[in-house]
Amino acid sequence: MSHSLVTMSYIVATILFIFSLSGLSNQETARRGNYYGMLGMAIAIIATTLSASVTSYAILIVALLIGGAIGARAALKVEMTQMPELVAIMHSLVGMAAVLVGYANFMDSSTNLSGVEKNIHEIEIYIGILIGAVTFSGSVIAFGKLSERISGKPLLLPGRHWFNLGLLIASIVLGWMFLQQTETGGGSLPLWIMTGIALVFGIHMVMAIGGADMPVVVSMLNSYSGWAAAATGFMLSNDLLIVTGALVGSSGAILSYIMCRAMNRNFISVIAGGFGTGSGGPEAIIEGEVTPISAEETAQLLLDAKNIMIIPGYGMAVAQAQHTVNEITKLLRDKGKKVGFGIHPVAGRMPGHMNVLLAEAKVPYDIVYEMDEINEDWAHVDVSIVIGANDIVNPSALDDPNSPIAGMPVLECWKGETTVVLKRSMASGYAGVGNPLFVLENTRMLFGDANATMQAVLKALKG
Ligand code: NDP
Repeated sequence: MSHSLVTMSYIVATILFIFSLSGLSNQETARRGNYYGMLGMAIAIIATTLSASVTSYAILIVALLIGGAIGARAALKVEMTQMPELVAIMHSLVGMAAVLVGYANFMDSSTNLSGVEKNIHEIEIYIGILIGAVTFSGSVIAFGKLSERISGKPLLLPGRHWFNLGLLIASIVLGWMFLQQTETGGGSLPLWIMTGIALVFGIHMVMAIGGADMPVVVSMLNSYSGWAAAATGFMLSNDLLIVTGALVGSSGAILSYIMCRAMNRNFISVIAGGFGTGSGGPEAIIEGEVTPISAEETAQLLLDAKNIMIIPGYGMAVAQAQHTVNEITKLLRDKGKKVGFGIHPVAGRMPGHMNVLLAEAKVPYDIVYEMDEINEDWAHVDVSIVIGANDIVNPSALDDPNSPIAGMPVLECWKGETTVVLKRSMASGYAGVGNPLFVLENTRMLFGDANATMQAVLKALKG
């Protein structure tokens, strides 16, 4: 393929990626956004494969087949609840690719650059490996935490901020040494040491994050993986990879900022790592009586109500209850009830998790509300049904300054008339915090798997 045709294809792919991102920003256009993204990626892969820079088709095809097969298998096998872990481990691969490309570039003796160009190329290599290694090890730890292979509890080393600062200064000094040594054909030692430091920094940064703050870290690593891809693009002199990486990096950074605002966290302290650990005082102990309710009684409550709000959380994803919930919603709306869905920005285990589930079950978009849209209106709600949600409806986030989730805005459903909470036990949620909502006077607990209990409620409603 001629150079100009490759460039043309890259421009088309870039435009499609931009359309894709703008499509993904809205539920109604998200599906179309995905198609644009897929088409853009297909064009990008074909154009790169056919470009003159490819020297061995045999290796390329074998690599494409292996990578494609692993990707297809992972995508087919993954449960919706494992999606965040899959995304985290995919980010780690982008990081690893940046590190490997960096080392390959460093060892490649065929590049004949000199003067400033040589220095720029070496800085690209150094920064690419640095970002790649942080992304790689941080994402592996995020994968471990999200899949509960590693405890969600924050690891708080004494003087951790000084430790981070030390690592940063060491990386800068090593970078300088690297540039000096490459003048005489060396430089591998500072590069190896920096890679080790970057790996330790990635591990330390994510290990220090408290459970409830993981969403911000996931979107932040998404952003890092974009910058790692952009760095790879610089090293390979591939314009499309630079642009695509920058798009992922900046959109991830914007998402991190939005998530920070939603969680009431400071963006800078997230980037520095080691945040979200509460103020250290004793957490309030939850005391009080739980009032259980049956599925039949819940159905009656719903039949007596006019205004109903459904709050889905991670448990709805685990139970795959969204289809039953949609059927109940249809039935209640047919009976003239006003039914809405209240979505917390960090409900579930990935940004937009609940929106995806509800869209899959074909819940109409116009009755799905964001937290800010409904938090003023609880006084008008007769019954709220909390389906497998916990942290996002925890009043202690507002009342208890010692709570690890203190300051995080939550859906204040307890201000409505009655709240019914569906879950299997009194266990805490992802952040590991007790929830006083469960013992409030106007709360009823409907214990059991959310899909089974929703089915029972549906049956009672029909009966
Ligand atoms: P939580 O993790 O707080 O609570 C989920 C609840 O669902 C649990 O208490 C559990 O209780 C219940 N549950 C689990 N399985 C079932 C089932 N089959 N049927 C019924 N109930 C079930 O989830 P939330 O959505 O309220 O909050 C999200 C949390 O995850 C926040 O802390 C957030 O910070 C964090 N997080 C979010 C990410 C994101 O991007 N959205 C990413 C990473 C973390 P029981 O065991 O008793 O059934």
